[in-house]
Amino acid sequence: MKETRLGFIGLGTMGAPMAENLQKAGYSLVVYNRTATKAERLVKLGAFLAESPAEVARKSEIVFVNVSDTEDVLQVVLGKDGVIEGSHPGMILVDHSTIKATASRIIYETMKERDVSSLDAPVSGGDIGAINGTLAIMIGGEKEVVDRIRPILEVVGKKITYVGGPGSGQIAKAANQIMVAAQMVAEAELLIFAQKAGADPERVIEAIRGGAAQCWTLDNKPQRLFAGNRTPGFKSSLQAKDLNIVIDTAREFKMSLPGTALNSQLFNGMVASGNGDLDNSAVIHMIELVNDEELATIES
Ligand code: NAP
Repeated sequence: MKETRLGFIGLGTMGAPMAENLQKAGYSLVVYNRTATKAERLVKLGAFLAESPAEVARKSEIVFVNVSDTEDVLQVVLGKDGVIEGSHPGMILVDHSTIKATASRIIYETMKERDVSSLDAPVSGGDIGAINGTLAIMIGGEKEVVDRIRPILEVVGKKITYVGGPGSGQIAKAANQIMVAAQMVAEAELLIFAQKAGADPERVIEAIRGGAAQCWTLDNKPQRLFAGNRTPGFKSSLQAKDLNIVIDTAREFKMSLPGTALNSQLFNGMVASGNGDLDNSAVIHMIELVNDEELATIES
């Protein structure tokens, strides 16, 4: 399988370490990033830098994409100089970005006309999971294609789940984001609540992590906040984007998601107040504001 030529488009917080893990696992990699300088590290490790997504596709058997939003994926896949222009029968496209399921289905159908298999394969596990190769990958598309490339997916992920037909991976990821946002907001509220009500927030986290409140967020984020570190990780603007995908989808199915509607407004507020580039745990900023209380930082 190591002789399979891989392409990777989008070397951001997630894409860069995912591509690096593939390179280090011994695959030969063709990469593209809109801002070419971000590819320098991978090129030093032996990757070939392409000038366009089309060139990546032309030179690869499997093309991975990890860019920001729905319109960005449509542009790098179906737009001018996009993957589609360099695609060839038998090629496989794996989109790791979190986007609208409707767009993933359009990509699936369009690529199918060219004999290209397409998977929507969004990931969860944050920058830490991308660096450690321990992401959860949730996949929509054809199961046979997932089975065929599973050894490669296992380089970047430790939990690979085939969810169902095209778009199903994106629905799973949207569902995941309902939970993640709720955790971030709850973490922010409990920290400010504990501090303002007179208990040491660090001791509170220590106390509750072993009980029913235990979750990924409490395991990973409080120490960053205590250290005054609000850099991403996962940008609040991307969290806002994902919640807006959830809300749009809920509207499509005439559903009511009151908790997520509120959380999406808090993350939209992060973007509107100029804090969109901060980590999603930095949503604590909104809770600090309404309570006139700032989380104290702790010297390490
Ligand atoms: P990021 O650090 O902001 O990187 C975004 C990447 O997309 C960059 O390489 C950027 O290129 C590229 N890009 C954006 N728009 C583009 C366009 N129109 N054409 C070409 N390239 C474009 O974002 P990220 O955190 O890696 O997230 C990427 C995706 O993974 C998102 O869908 C996000 O929701 C999802 N995700 C992120 C996390 C996380 O913890 N960060 C976790 C799970 C899922 P430039 O370098 O030129 O800007």
